[in-house]
Amino acid sequence: MSQAPKYKRILLKLSGEALMGDGDYGIDPVTIGRIADEIKGLNRIGVEVGVVIGGGNIFRGAGLAEAGMDRVAADHMGMLATVMNSLALQDALEARDVYVRVMSAIRINEVCEDYLRRRAVRHLEKKRVTIFAAGTGNPFFTTDSAAALRAIEINAEIMLKATKVDGVYTADPMKDPSATRYEHISFTDALTQNLGVMDATALVMCRENNLPIKVFNIFNEGDLLKVVLGDNVGTLVSEETP
Ligand code: UDP
Repeated sequence: MSQAPKYKRILLKLSGEALMGDGDYGIDPVTIGRIADEIKGLNRIGVEVGVVIGGGNIFRGAGLAEAGMDRVAADHMGMLATVMNSLALQDALEARDVYVRVMSAIRINEVCEDYLRRRAVRHLEKKRVTIFAAGTGNPFFTTDSAAALRAIEINAEIMLKATKVDGVYTADPMKDPSATRYEHISFTDALTQNLGVMDATALVMCRENNLPIKVFNIFNEGDLLKVVLGDNVGTLVSEETP
């Protein structure tokens, strides 16, 4: 396995749930520490890393709205949850001597920087891990859409979508043991077959801007590095066959 990274700049999308570990709410310090170690590994081999984190481990707008809240207020809470997760990851990275900046789509500049595209690109060029918080800053979107948007804006070569399965399968591998992993699928198949890669808004944005996505398992230690080195793990979603 050569140490030369295949990509110079990536956007890593972590769901809020990736931070929970075995718990069912909040942030598990051991889990976030392990993820920070893996991100540090990429930083140390010179990869420019942008990160978008979800908020599902704390609040999801749709869930709160179902329980009776106004959807816009609920989505504001969801976006603020992503800010908390971003601050936790920043802390874990700084504890490991990694330079990092959090930039929020909602102005909250006692806590972190405002998102400015030019400044974000500068941080990345200086090899600072740059965490994009508060989603797109708008209700009715998901952090998958925010990840697609930021990845395109910063000219990332690929979006790495961290999940709890090894990639995209022909069926749900938790339910159907005969399900097999796709090495590659097209955006159109991912959309029309409803394979659950990401929501349609995010997928269409990636397709229209030719941004490939790699779906991989963040719970397999070392797989994030393998993806960046170009090893055959996970599933590539792109228009062209590799
Ligand atoms: N959210 C939003 N606009 C955005 C991104 C996120 O309103 O651009 C809110 C929405 O309520 C969402 C919550 O933030 O449910 C957390 O994000 P998401 O559900 O995408 O987190 P994940 O599932 O990745 O943990």
